[in-house]
Amino acid sequence: MDKTCIKCGRCLAVCPVYKATGQERLSPRGKNSLIELFQEGLLPSSLSFRKTLSACILCGQCTERCVLSINTPDRIHKLRTSFWPQQKRHLYRAWLAEQLLASFHKELGIWLRFLVLLNQIKPLPISPAPKPFLSQISSSSPSPSSIAIFVGCGVNFIYPSLGQKLINILTALNHRVAIPQEQTCCGLMAYTLGDMQTALKLAQKNIAVFSQLNPEAIITPCASCYHHLKTFPPYQEAGISAKVVEISQFLVNKNIPLASLSEKITWHDPCHLRFHHQIWKEPRTLLNRAGHFVESSPQGQCCGHGGSFALNFPDLSKEIFNRRKKAIEESKAKFIFTSCMGCLIQLQLHLGKERVRHILDIFA
Ligand code: SF4
Ligand code: SF4
Repeated sequence: MDKTCIKCGRCLAVCPVYKATGQERLSPRGKNSLIELFQEGLLPSSLSFRKTLSACILCGQCTERCVLSINTPDRIHKLRTSFWPQQKRHLYRAWLAEQLLASFHKELGIWLRFLVLLNQIKPLPISPAPKPFLSQISSSSPSPSSIAIFVGCGVNFIYPSLGQKLINILTALNHRVAIPQEQTCCGLMAYTLGDMQTALKLAQKNIAVFSQLNPEAIITPCASCYHHLKTFPPYQEAGISAKVVEISQFLVNKNIPLASLSEKITWHDPCHLRFHHQIWKEPRTLLNRAGHFVESSPQGQCCGHGGSFALNFPDLSKEIFNRRKKAIEESKAKFIFTSCMGCLIQLQLHLGKERVRHILDIFA
């Protein structure tokens, strides 16, 4: 039985959607009230109710703050799953994106360029890579002593140089690197939309590929892929999650030459790392070693991307970003580092490609 929200309002202080809109119905407290009315049969599954549930980044900040540890994003996600068949035509941009990721993964580079031409993908700050990363590398044979890279869509289609950088670092650390070419999208976007059929199909494909490879560990350059590979039950049940390591935790104690950074630098916490896995110390330790680190979000602060959220609510996404931008500018940081591809896209879109970098970029 779900705990009942006592309407104390503690969560309002941290919810990025509520802070950007000031609307009670969009706050965790408001959403919990509506969910409870729906569960009691007093509220129909109207379009307005379904849209309200879509206006959540699933960032997890409300759960961390809640006196009863109510998992509001989980409640919202369960309902999104049950509403998905009716929802997809209203969330057509995100639906299209997740279908492209799921069904045309190998051909996605072509589709992305086509959509950019049609001006249908506004949150992309840069052109898709001329050639997907996975088509640039040779296939890996099964090897239990290797470290496998889960590439993720962002690196595969937009930032292939990060994939190469990770290979170089792992090789310099004397690891045997394995990158199965048949891997696909982790399925997070499908999952957050509530399209469980697609999320499961993608997970099954990755489970088959990585189980056959049987690596010692799996590492991914994307914090959101890390979160999904760690927490989606099919990955857990197949033993994949137990092998997944977070990139900053993996690198923090390694002896790797650093790039020379003389400017002030700051860290942007991906919500998936900060609020779902409480990982925030290691990236700061790494940045402190690399240059003049300045804090711009001691408690973490959402950038407003949220994957499908930015596609469904571009104006609200920008409004949430503006609050993040204010804290970044107040820190006087010249460069901003992060490790989530969604955050990277959002920050580069609004702050410029040159100022925003991936944590791998601190290494020489
Ligand atoms: S998960 Fe994040 S966006 Fe959603 S209600 Fe909670 S704090 Fe707000
Ligand atoms: S903090 Fe928890 S109990 Fe309090 S209003 Fe928010 S969801 Fe409800």
